[in-house]
Amino acid sequence: MGWLWGVLDWLYPPVCGGCSRPGARWCADCQQQVTPVSGSICNICGLPVAGEGLCEGCQLHMPPYTALRSWAVFEGPVRSALHRLKYRRNVALGDALARPLADFCRRLDWPVQVVVPVPLGKERLHERGYNQVGLIAMPLAALNRWRYAPRALSRVRETKSQVGLSAFERQENMQGAFRADPHLVGGYTVLLMDDVATTGATLSAGAEALLSAGAEAVFALTLARALPRHGL
Ligand SMILES: [Zn+2]
Ligand SMILES: [Zn+2]
Repeated sequence: MGWLWGVLDWLYPPVCGGCSRPGARWCADCQQQVTPVSGSICNICGLPVAGEGLCEGCQLHMPPYTALRSWAVFEGPVRSALHRLKYRRNVALGDALARPLADFCRRLDWPVQVVVPVPLGKERLHERGYNQVGLIAMPLAALNRWRYAPRALSRVRETKSQVGLSAFERQENMQGAFRADPHLVGGYTVLLMDDVATTGATLSAGAEALLSAGAEAVFALTLARALPRHGL
């Protein structure tokens, strides 16, 4: 695909998805500002913890996924780039962001076989015309030579927007929202991907459906993580 972007860059000089400056689709300045979720984190859900081991939430209720990790904190240029992917079908930006994400995945060294994006509800998909998660998940799968299964998971019902809901309300809201296709995931280790995670309720509901359909294990990955101090 590289040559195609070369031709398109010549026809339409690219602007950065993080800062809108012309030059690159994801510039070195914005890459510099990417904040990893650093310090001591929960082994399962990836949220910062004071000590070692599991956070309180995971101790109380173990998530169905093996681990959830995010490439960056949901702020600054990463936030702008995700907004841009959501409201404009910027395929080239998805491709550009999949590269650092693929490096991040190599470091995680998870035994992934199939990549499944978290699907949108029918209404949302109809409004937007595309699933922004797929714009990153598809090139990520290609870069790491994983099978890509965009239709493995589907929404069984529409869900309310999660904005302003507590962790418990989010969990209730997402419970039973998904169904997975056993033919596409049965016996495989799945990487379930979303753009942003907050409490991880959506990924938990998706992972539950995948495991019910016979997936061997589910690892969850998001581009960004909204940390509690950044507002839920
Ligand atoms: Zn930039
Ligand atoms: Zn945790």
